[in-house]
Amino acid sequence: MFEKVLIANRGEIALRIHRACKELGIHTVAVHSTADADAMHVRLADESVCVGPPPARESYLNKAAIISAAVITGADAIHPGYGFLSENADFARMVEDHGIAFIGPSPDHISMMGDKIEAKRAMISLGVPCVPGSDGPVPDLETALKLGTEIGYPVLVKAAGGGGGKGMKVANSAAELEDAYRGARAEAGAAFGNDVVYIEKYLGHPRHIEFQMLADGHGNVVHLGERDCSLQRFHQKVLEESPSPALNADQRRRMGEIVVSALKKLGYRNAGTLEFLYQDGEFYFIEMNTRLQVEHPVTEMVCGLDLVREQIRIASGAPLAFTQADVNLQGHAIECRINAENPDTFAPSPGKIAEYHTPGGLGVRIDSALYSGYRVPSNYDSMVAKLIVHGTSRNECLMRLRRALDEYVIGGIQTTLPLHRRLTRTQEFIDGRYDIHWLERWMGLKK
Ligand code: ADP
Repeated sequence: MFEKVLIANRGEIALRIHRACKELGIHTVAVHSTADADAMHVRLADESVCVGPPPARESYLNKAAIISAAVITGADAIHPGYGFLSENADFARMVEDHGIAFIGPSPDHISMMGDKIEAKRAMISLGVPCVPGSDGPVPDLETALKLGTEIGYPVLVKAAGGGGGKGMKVANSAAELEDAYRGARAEAGAAFGNDVVYIEKYLGHPRHIEFQMLADGHGNVVHLGERDCSLQRFHQKVLEESPSPALNADQRRRMGEIVVSALKKLGYRNAGTLEFLYQDGEFYFIEMNTRLQVEHPVTEMVCGLDLVREQIRIASGAPLAFTQADVNLQGHAIECRINAENPDTFAPSPGKIAEYHTPGGLGVRIDSALYSGYRVPSNYDSMVAKLIVHGTSRNECLMRLRRALDEYVIGGIQTTLPLHRRLTRTQEFIDGRYDIHWLERWMGLKK
């Protein structure tokens, strides 16, 4: 087992990883920018190293500074968290070249899944159902138009190097495709420095359902059930739950077998998530995330496992200590992402936390690095807390979630707490009747 882990991240996820390390008896090293000198992850870590100024590209994305921090402090492994360098194959390779373990998959698998076209090709060859579409890059408008006729409108133009919903444009007809094609390429080029795009059938009313996977690199692969992440705005997840209100045990078991078999054939190692759109009883793979996800706690609450602990054990070479038959999914869990934002306009709302009171009680979990007097910097992602609630049934979970949301006080800044309080009281949410478009429609952002 490792003796010292460097956590190459900030905020709630840095704290989350610190907690798993401490419970394994591992020393932690925090890295931080000058804007984060007072952050909770820095305060709690055993050691900390300042790796640069506030802009992420000079600090949390500064590979050389982070690896130097690991070498200087004698860390034997690096956990990248999510975002920042977590899906950067070059970084993973550099870490390994320095004789430090990367707590994640092999660099080859990171680059394979980072290219969504390559990822789809791989999944098709592994027997995973995908959204119908182009079987590779779409190099020009002429090819795009030909494909539009073949696949049938509406279609979605997507960036091969995409993420965070950027570089994605819908075309309802051939006439709309020209703008969508050029728009997606321009946006992808600006956002990812890669303007390669592909085309998919645009599904009208799917749910977003993803499977959490763990693989030890010794041939053992398990899935830990699914998460329903259909409540989104601008393709960003707002609230997640496990299990999905749309799946039954038989559908879960059948899809679980497909995803486990695919990752076995791939020889995958560590944690990963296969994301699907689910419509009219069919699953369509859209992408694989080769890292821990923001919403991993809902899975932890229903399966009773610490995913970060498992990631660390796997990276140290240990085989999985359990099999698929041992995975026992119990009850229901929901996570609300709480952002420092205006709940109506979503404009960022950084600033000083004047008052802070967290809900408690059975089945309530808060993953957050906030504290009273902390100043939320304006330089980073606006998500400042995750409220995760578990109950024996979905109804119990919902009742508990509403009362926990009512107890939670975050003063001094605006947050999305009021949005969650309203959302969790709507009939559609109570009934589990929602698709990926419902939230935007309910908020009046879309027809
Ligand atoms: P990103 O990497 O940018 O997050 P994804 O491929 O994961 O992109 O898609 C993000 C979201 O966009 C999905 O959760 C879904 O809401 C929507 N989406 C993606 N592909 C399709 C599609 N073929 N049809 C309809 N919606 C889609």
